[in-house]
Amino acid sequence: MINASDIEALMGDEYYSEEEAPMSPSQYSHWVETMMLTTGQTRLVENTLGLVGEAGEVAEKIKKYFRDGSVDPTVIIKELGDVLFYVTALSAYFDADLQQVLDKNVEKLNSRKNRGKLQGNGDDR
Ligand SMILES: [Mg+2]
Repeated sequence: MINASDIEALMGDEYYSEEEAPMSPSQYSHWVETMMLTTGQTRLVENTLGLVGEAGEVAEKIKKYFRDGSVDPTVIIKELGDVLFYVTALSAYFDADLQQVLDKNVEKLNSRKNRGKLQGNGDDR
């Protein structure tokens, strides 16, 4: 099982070089834009299929964890980074940066929690 100490070990002091400060979500959004290779509808399709493909890669690694009984946490973290890349790219397509997506998600889930609606069905509960 991957726990907080595994992630901390991965993301520790040596994760970023001395010269390279950690990126904020908004800075990461700008950086992702520098990596885009497509535009318009082609970008929408490429980013959507990229997101689904990378989420599938996470699922594949978790499948192997259950099948084989172990997983290298660094492999999972790398795939989650790929998912984040496409989440960020899709967000920009719809004129939002990653910080805005994070803020909306926190707002939505806090509202559900405060109303006792974390469980259940429906996007607008
Ligand atoms: Mg990947």
